[in-house]
Amino acid sequence: MTAMDAAALDAADPLASFRDRFVGTDDAGLLYLDGNSLGRPVRDLPGRLAEFVEHEWGERLIRSWDEGWFDQPLTLGDRLARHVLGAAPGQTIVGDSTTVSLYKLIRGALSAQPDRRTIVVDRGNFPTDRYVVQGIAAERGAEIAWLDPDPAAGVTIDDVRAVLSDDVAVIVLSHVAYRSGYIADVPGITAAAHEAGALVVWDLCHSAGAVPVELDAWGVDFATGCTYKYLNGGPGSPAFSYVRADLIERAAQPIQGWMGARDPFVMGPEYAAADGIRRFVSGTPPVFAMLPMMAMMDLVEEAGMDRIRAKSVALTEHAIRLHDELLAPLGAVLASPRDASVRGGHVTVDHPAFPELIGVLWRDGIVPDFRRPDGIRLGLSPLSTSFAEVDAAIRRIADELARAA
Ligand SMILES: *Cc1c(COP(=O)(O)O)cnc(C)c1O
Repeated sequence: MTAMDAAALDAADPLASFRDRFVGTDDAGLLYLDGNSLGRPVRDLPGRLAEFVEHEWGERLIRSWDEGWFDQPLTLGDRLARHVLGAAPGQTIVGDSTTVSLYKLIRGALSAQPDRRTIVVDRGNFPTDRYVVQGIAAERGAEIAWLDPDPAAGVTIDDVRAVLSDDVAVIVLSHVAYRSGYIADVPGITAAAHEAGALVVWDLCHSAGAVPVELDAWGVDFATGCTYKYLNGGPGSPAFSYVRADLIERAAQPIQGWMGARDPFVMGPEYAAADGIRRFVSGTPPVFAMLPMMAMMDLVEEAGMDRIRAKSVALTEHAIRLHDELLAPLGAVLASPRDASVRGGHVTVDHPAFPELIGVLWRDGIVPDFRRPDGIRLGLSPLSTSFAEVDAAIRRIADELARAA
């Protein structure tokens, strides 16, 4: 394979022109393969921010709370639900960090299952998911049942079945594994959990915006995920939280604040939860921090999740071909699934020299992620990454590996 193939793939890519609509993609000296940790800003964002400061904030001032801000956690939630999450309106909000949202949803799931006290989580899950579970277990006197999935894949339905019992209240899993990129069987695992009377909280951080999601059709109970990864919301942009309609009233969330209360401006002596998903809002929503992802949502809606997924698969296939041709002969090992149907938007490659090389690569403008112990994670954000960029980056990584050997 030659670099010519990458040019042909870019020429045939129906989404190729989206790349120009992100800041920084014209910098030929930068090969950015970390859009799944922090997506690039949308190019027209500065104008939108200026307009917001001038008009919605500067001119309308506090009146803007009535003119849209108060409902923005719900309206933006519904927009994500419709175009990215496969969910009907009234079940999704945008607000807290994923970490805080996990806390609220897991506590909510426990409160809906008062006779059960075991939480299931896997050792391959992202640290914050495991730490939140450990904190809740200590706080509530709950037991943790740990799963030990294959690190180059992820949690399977058999792993989950092996620990299910009539004491399991809630299972906390990622849709796409943050290291390997493995896609878990959300509908299958959720159905198996339900058969045993358990609920599942799905973390969509590495799928939302890259891998199609059908929360309603899959019977999902709870879900949350980041918006600064494939949804390009910027550093610390607020997460989304989904609670299936029939669970909203059953699952009491623990951070009851005035913005999720029935009548916030009555400022009464006792908390009464608002009707519907608003009760999952806690305090004043981060309105300003939602603007970058709103700009990205315009692009996501224009491209459509099916085309985004098709490009994502093509990009990861291209990366794996380059790995096989250039990196494997130098001792690298693919740590992601070869089967595209169970592979998300990133590819991880292990090599003992990578811990040393990553600093050199970043210094030279080749920016993948590093995942311990010795993995380089190539995050291929579909709308902002070109085939030529993947090609050039993997060739440079191969050059550095050959030099190091
Ligand atoms: C990135 C990521 C997080 C991050 O949570 P924050 O609260 O935004 O820091 C959580 N879970 C998973 C699976 C992630 O990939």
